[in-house]
Amino acid sequence: MSTATHTMTIDGKAVTAAATINAVNPATEQVVGTAPDCSREQLDQAVAAARHAFSAWSATPLNERRAVLGRMAGVLAANAATLGELLSQEQGKPLAKAQEEVLISAHWCAEVAKLPLEPDTLADTPDSLVQVHRVPIGVVGAIVPWNFPVALAFFKIAPALLAGNTMVLKPSPLTPLTALKFGELLRDALPPGVFNVVSGGDALGPWMTAHPGIDKISFTGSTATGRKVMESGAATLKRLTLELGGNDAAIVLPDVDVNAVAPLIFWGAFANSAQFCLAIKRLYIHDAVYDRLSQALAKLAGSVKLGAATEAGVELGPVQNKAQFERLKGLLADCKAQGLRLLAGGEVAQQPGYFFPVTLVDNPPESSRIVQEEPFGPILPLLRFTDIDDAVARANASPYGLGASVWTADEAQGLAIGRRLQAGTVWVNEIHTISPIKPMAGHKQSGLGVEQGEDGLLEYTLPQTVSLKRGGQASGAGA
Ligand code: NAD
Repeated sequence: MSTATHTMTIDGKAVTAAATINAVNPATEQVVGTAPDCSREQLDQAVAAARHAFSAWSATPLNERRAVLGRMAGVLAANAATLGELLSQEQGKPLAKAQEEVLISAHWCAEVAKLPLEPDTLADTPDSLVQVHRVPIGVVGAIVPWNFPVALAFFKIAPALLAGNTMVLKPSPLTPLTALKFGELLRDALPPGVFNVVSGGDALGPWMTAHPGIDKISFTGSTATGRKVMESGAATLKRLTLELGGNDAAIVLPDVDVNAVAPLIFWGAFANSAQFCLAIKRLYIHDAVYDRLSQALAKLAGSVKLGAATEAGVELGPVQNKAQFERLKGLLADCKAQGLRLLAGGEVAQQPGYFFPVTLVDNPPESSRIVQEEPFGPILPLLRFTDIDDAVARANASPYGLGASVWTADEAQGLAIGRRLQAGTVWVNEIHTISPIKPMAGHKQSGLGVEQGEDGLLEYTLPQTVSLKRGGQASGAGA
């Protein structure tokens, strides 16, 4: 177990700070390592290093930047075991899942490196050439949460650097160690200053969003914090990408094969201990299959192995932090106070660690907190419906619009219903098949802008339109 002090990466160098913050293993509540608490002056140094590195990095030929991303993928893959172990200790997820997250991040770097970024030619005639180039924005401040501390960081790092930006990354104070470690491992793969990692407490994020030397903030986290980021960034008119919360609905039609879909839906809701922005958070089940599907889900809930990251055969870890654990207990208490029936779970064991059992709530009223709020943990409302239009209306009656899914034997109907759902990502008979080429955009209060795919890459650029009058004669709009 690592209890080492990890270092920040500023201008390619290891940097410690006068103060430190602790990272806690949520399975044991023991400190697993300490991270520097970045001072304001150190943030200034990181931003200055990124600004200085920008001129050379943005002028580096695109193919060379593609090659650097390939090298970064190699570094991550080669260190997946070490990084995965550290991630599982500070985040709580099973070791195999933590290593998988590192390998997914390597895959992201390798695949994002292949995305097109060549100029668009709008006209190329004997008289004129009109091209739209995509120029980098400058210094990107990346702020990420604690649920997928590695993957969510590389969703930003890979496209931002490919486009020619430089970056200052801030992990969550709850999971700083793995980000500091990959910052350290990547020091030799990148020119100094191109990629900086700073860690710290609650003051650091607001310093970044207000910093005049940062040109864009790419943020993943809650909707409440996203609003603050937008407000703070307004003063310097920063470009923003906000990937925020969700309350994703799944709609199950009466024609499904219950046994086939039950495990897919179960893991669609509870993977990563349901600490997943795109987790199923409201499960609408047609009356004709409600009893059979809820029983199948309850059976899976009863047999899933909950435990510490390193336990053999463990499938779900604890929730990541005490505040989240207390919030979930509050939601459970609210369900009990309302007299709602629980089909699984509901009893939190008195033991060290933030272990919350998979809990299924039987058909709560639409107005209850468990339906209206994003739990971000393993407690799921099962909601009965008889009329599909009613289910679609209830699914859409949310301020969020991140993801949604439809489950049916009738593909055409599934697609038609899917298109009616107000969400940026819709799945039919599958879930969480996110990829470096599929754009992911939060609708409504789930976000601003896009991540992934060509659209996501363009978020790290500004269009620059260049028009040439051929033939040596100058001309203008007024000529
Ligand atoms: P959070 O908003 O509390 O924190 C996210 C990050 O923002 C952390 O690094 C935190 O230190 C920083 N931060 C906090 N206050 C800040 C401020 N005022 N200014 C700048 N930075 C600040 O979110 P969380 O609890 O860490 O993560 C859970 C939330 O993230 C859930 O709502 C979940 O749905 C959402 N999420 C969204 C996506 C997505 O892609 N849409 C992905 C994962 C998680």
